[in-house]
Amino acid sequence: MVCKRIEDTAQYCKEKFLGGLWVAAKMTKVLLSIGAVVFCIAIAVVLRTAMLGSKQIQPAPIDPIDLDAARVTEKLSRSIQYRTVSSPNPEQFDGEFLGLRRYLEDAFRRVHSSLTREIIGKHSLLFTWKGQDENLRPVLLMGHTDVVPVEPGTENQWIHPPFSGYTDGGYVWGRGALDDKITVIASLEAIESLLAESFRPRRTILLAFGHDEEAGGAQGAAQIGALLESRGIQLDYVLDEGGVITRQIVPGISSPVALIAVSEKGYASFELVAESQGGHSSMPPAQTSVGILSAAISRLETVPFPAILTRSVTSLYDYVGPEMPFHQRMVFANLWLFGPVLKQKLASSPATNAMIRTTMAATMFSAGAKENLLPAKARAVVNVRILPGETFDGTLQQLRRKINDPRIRIAPFGPISEPSSETDVSARGFQLLHRTIRQVQPDAIVAPSLLVGATDSRHMAKLSRETYRFLPIELTSDDLRRYHGIDERVSIENLGRAVRFYVQLIRNSQ
Ligand SMILES: [Zn+2]
Repeated sequence: MVCKRIEDTAQYCKEKFLGGLWVAAKMTKVLLSIGAVVFCIAIAVVLRTAMLGSKQIQPAPIDPIDLDAARVTEKLSRSIQYRTVSSPNPEQFDGEFLGLRRYLEDAFRRVHSSLTREIIGKHSLLFTWKGQDENLRPVLLMGHTDVVPVEPGTENQWIHPPFSGYTDGGYVWGRGALDDKITVIASLEAIESLLAESFRPRRTILLAFGHDEEAGGAQGAAQIGALLESRGIQLDYVLDEGGVITRQIVPGISSPVALIAVSEKGYASFELVAESQGGHSSMPPAQTSVGILSAAISRLETVPFPAILTRSVTSLYDYVGPEMPFHQRMVFANLWLFGPVLKQKLASSPATNAMIRTTMAATMFSAGAKENLLPAKARAVVNVRILPGETFDGTLQQLRRKINDPRIRIAPFGPISEPSSETDVSARGFQLLHRTIRQVQPDAIVAPSLLVGATDSRHMAKLSRETYRFLPIELTSDDLRRYHGIDERVSIENLGRAVRFYVQLIRNSQ
């Protein structure tokens, strides 16, 4: 604007000046409001962080639990020497299962003379240690005697032969050392030593050892569950394998962290089939059955299932958060604000990503018979692990929506198990396990967690509202890769820790 007269200029400048003042005042107000909101959020964040107190129980110390380490080591070693392999032809290993059962009778004589033993589904074992008070609901401790096979051609890669049960003074080596003969031997040894001191439980203790856990548990744990149900038994709590004491795995915590799985994911597989016209490959259509199916799998991989922080995962952070340095504690104390950041962080590694969403992995793919023939049919199998809170039906619907191609048939394939319910951490059993772990290993931080695999405990879902999956062995990430892998082994220290844990747990369960 060009001012023609001085008065006009003065007027203009006045208006401009007042307008500028008004804008400045408005902006200051907005900035002050934003500042006030940020300040309030910061105060809330700091207050919530400060209020996030430790959830760790501080039990009174207990007397040391005596144990004959050499004897229990020998028992684990001997049990590994029986090749009790889960196989599509179970008869093949009948002799091995029978041998193991005979060996257990010999190694745990007090258990076999004082407890009732039933043989279920040919090789599974159910022991009943009758309590003094029959009005109390029994406790069920679970494990399994079967092991996964050693992958053909890898036997020579083992430092010690996989079924040798070799003991080097520090470790017991062999298939089943970790998964799961240690549970069987340690729980039996605990009862054997309690019987030696004439201990009698007030509450009945049941021990269930399936023989086909690695194959789904249909003949073993499922039959035991059905039998207990037919007897009208309701359990106080169920404890199976699953969680362990991790060392240097949870970031920000140098102490060992005992993870008690309070839920486990569901399991299902789906077969996807695409069909197209066969014929000679010299005049192909735009897409063959291989192309159609590949595109579908690519869509499934590109759009993952939604990320959800389940109660098992948020309560994990409720328990480990207070033990972390301030900046990490701040995140876990304020999931209302940092939830999306945490989800993003967890999604960045396969192990933690599996904790926050239903996962899908294409595991089988086949098509085509000759290089110059159009494949009339392509087939793939995808394996899904369903997050607690979701269902098999819902997962199937989501798969259909993601694939969104009527040329592909989708059908369930193989065994299906729904995800478990989530046991509340305020339940009596959780507190009992928490106390027991802190009694036998006072430096361990105890926390609930979600198990991404499946265990036999799922066959007991109708029998108890409280199911836990935990074995008190301390493992690093190097040890974890030995599950189902080469050089499976367990330290004698861990074996002793497991026996002491079961002794104390049975004492506390009364
Ligand atoms: Zn197992």
